[in-house]
Amino acid sequence: MSDRPTAVVTGASSGIGAATARALAKAGFYVVLGARRVDRCAEIAAEIDGTAVRLDVTDPESVAAFAAAVPDCRLLVNNAGGAKGLEPVLQADEEAWRWMFETNVIGTLRVTKALLPALLASGDGHIVTVTSIAALETYDNGAGYTGAKHAQAMLHRTLRGELLGQPVRLTEVLPGLVETEFSVVRFDGDEERAAGVYRGITPLTPADVADVIAFAATRPSNVNIDQIVIKPRNQASAMRAHREP
Ligand code: NAP
Repeated sequence: MSDRPTAVVTGASSGIGAATARALAKAGFYVVLGARRVDRCAEIAAEIDGTAVRLDVTDPESVAAFAAAVPDCRLLVNNAGGAKGLEPVLQADEEAWRWMFETNVIGTLRVTKALLPALLASGDGHIVTVTSIAALETYDNGAGYTGAKHAQAMLHRTLRGELLGQPVRLTEVLPGLVETEFSVVRFDGDEERAAGVYRGITPLTPADVADVIAFAATRPSNVNIDQIVIKPRNQASAMRAHREP
């Protein structure tokens, strides 16, 4: 494919994934971008001399076809994910919970299993998983998402032990508020409600998060950055932020 080391970014059609694809290309990686909206990935791939491959992390056949298209892989960024809804547990929508667990948890599991042989064969593999501060905390009305992000984090952190002695690093990136399509997806296309999430605060940009992913990915191979928590200055926790009037 290229003489540059290959990086795979899932959920690269928007937000943090798109910015990460750009940052990794700048850092010298050949980037394979995966998402369902492959047309958007193709535009970014053209810009950074990478490749776009359609990927639905909830579909085993799609993941198998994706992995077959990536014979060499040095870095996997498990970024595809998101939230659906913001309701108390007693009003939980089972379909929304299923979507969150399928995408964030099983999707990460499936892609990681599919690409781990290539990562190990590279002799210097690296798995970066984008979880969230929702993997550290609970917050009211957020149990579906915090539950899924905790489970995704457990999968990632368990691998850190299980893969000891193998040539692969593991980095978990845990962002707070980042302005992306995340809230539009969470609120089912309600742009006004989504904008309210970022009102009165300067959120992180996708590029801010991509910077730390590229930093972790470009350390010498004996250096494992285990976790990076990154939040806007005015955010202390998921439920506690200073907002300008
Ligand atoms: P975003 O702009 O909505 O991007 C989400 C990405 O995930 C899109 O590229 C989407 O692509 C992809 N995706 C969703 N379902 C998928 C599927 N079934 N198969 C493949 N790709 C899928 O949101 P974002 O903020 O950049 O989110 C990226 C990650 O950061 C997520 O894991 C999210 O939970 C996490 N995060 C976000 C924030 C925040 O405040 N924004 C904070 C902490 C953590 P397609 O729709 O084209 O498939």
